[in-house]
Amino acid sequence: MKIAIYPGSFDPVTKGHLDILKTAAGIFDKVIIAVARNSEKHGFLPVDVRVDLIKQSVKDLANVEVDYFEGLTINYAREKGATVLIRGLRAVSDFEYEMQLSQANSALAEEVKTVFLTTKPKYNFISSSTIKEIYLNNGDISKFVPEPVNEYLKNTYKC
Ligand code: ADP
Repeated sequence: MKIAIYPGSFDPVTKGHLDILKTAAGIFDKVIIAVARNSEKHGFLPVDVRVDLIKQSVKDLANVEVDYFEGLTINYAREKGATVLIRGLRAVSDFEYEMQLSQANSALAEEVKTVFLTTKPKYNFISSSTIKEIYLNNGDISKFVPEPVNEYLKNTYKC
């Protein structure tokens, strides 16, 4: 059984993330999308809310699990019996950081391989930070995020 981890901040999860996730779910037996809890980084949404919004957004994907973790991604991958990390690439600007990260992970855990995926062009420019910027300036984010995220931000989150 090939298990892949899709780690990230997902603050909040976007249609770009979901597109990557769906592709990964079609390739691997099981994909765990996992929110990285970083105690030093102050997030937009609390980790439990991010996890819950992802859960609501991936209900129709049978081989996808949703979780969160703290600490090194490779330790979490080992704990879950995963040998693949999924990362997304949008533009050349992502490449340098993602390359460094995958090489660092590979130096720490040779058996864990990083697989890079891309989205459909229509989701390529979407990032969580762009979404936050649009949302905080009262723009319409419904095209860029799954419905549960749109609903949550519309009804619950107060800025
Ligand atoms: P992180 O803080 O770990 O970069 P993100 O939630 O911002 O977490 O992103 C998780 C992963 O998804 C990263 O590899 C990022 O490049 C990728 N990603 C995010 N949005 C897109 C998108 N629209 N197209 C392709 N990959 C994406």
